[in-house]
Amino acid sequence: MSTSILEPPSCQQVDSAPPANRSSDFFPPAKDRTPKPSGHLSYSQVRRFADCPLSWRLSRQFKPSFAPVSLVFGGAFHAGIEAFYRARLEGREAELAELLKAFNLHWARETVGKKLSVKYTAKIEDEGGARDLASHMLSAFMAAAPKGEVVAVEEKFAVDLAPDLPPVVGTIDLVEIRTDADGVRRLHLVDHKTASRKPAWEDLDRDQLLLYLEAARRMPRIAAFGLPLALSFAVTTKTKLPALVTVPIEPSVRETVRVVEKIRLCHKAMVGGLCYPTPGRSCSTCGYARQCAAWPNLPVAQAA
Ligand code: SF4
Repeated sequence: MSTSILEPPSCQQVDSAPPANRSSDFFPPAKDRTPKPSGHLSYSQVRRFADCPLSWRLSRQFKPSFAPVSLVFGGAFHAGIEAFYRARLEGREAELAELLKAFNLHWARETVGKKLSVKYTAKIEDEGGARDLASHMLSAFMAAAPKGEVVAVEEKFAVDLAPDLPPVVGTIDLVEIRTDADGVRRLHLVDHKTASRKPAWEDLDRDQLLLYLEAARRMPRIAAFGLPLALSFAVTTKTKLPALVTVPIEPSVRETVRVVEKIRLCHKAMVGGLCYPTPGRSCSTCGYARQCAAWPNLPVAQAA
């Protein structure tokens, strides 16, 4: 989501200046851009910040030099699945063509619409390859999607988690009533993902679903069903034979406490101006390499 209005505090900004070499140059008095209390915080920002604080900061102020195909593909695939469940919400089954239309619209919006070029990979070499893969994956998804009673699609929430946090906003992909194998009817909160392989434990961000759970517990519309809640990831693989893999998540109370504390501390660090690079796996898909290379000197921001 990109609904947050949280603005980053200022780190150093210089325009084409040579690298600073005195510690006082690195941390000049910053112009106060502390977020206003009326702001809100999206979980995707927290995730980005936790992954690389500098990337988060740059994403708030610069346009990336490219869009990684994994991100564009994941968003477009998600749009296809959304079309599938919106049809079920209307009491009908969607055709594959309808899902592909949603996929293509999203793709165009995120690339042509934002004037961004896509950085392709060996797995997805071009736009045509992306469409072919999407067609196979969406077909596999449609064949395997469990039958439930769709309650909500793309359900937005804003939740107060702590007194020193602005409302945390997010979107639950799917809320659906299912009768599970044990015969119990549960309200399932589902997050849809794509993955290049069958997902391993470390591939999934449990914190995101724990946040969904915290939000759902506070939503009168959800509580009104009076059903136990269940959490799961629904992962469609990009493997040669795409498959839909459901990964249930059973959280402990302790985990939920930790997530809230993590969000609180990330927000505190954002507001406080903490930003530094954490080179790693994310760098290959980061569109801010040029600005990152100049850190701790940063060029004057352009409109993101
Ligand atoms: S290139 Fe890597 S270290 Fe630099 S901002 Fe991007 S993700 Fe962070």
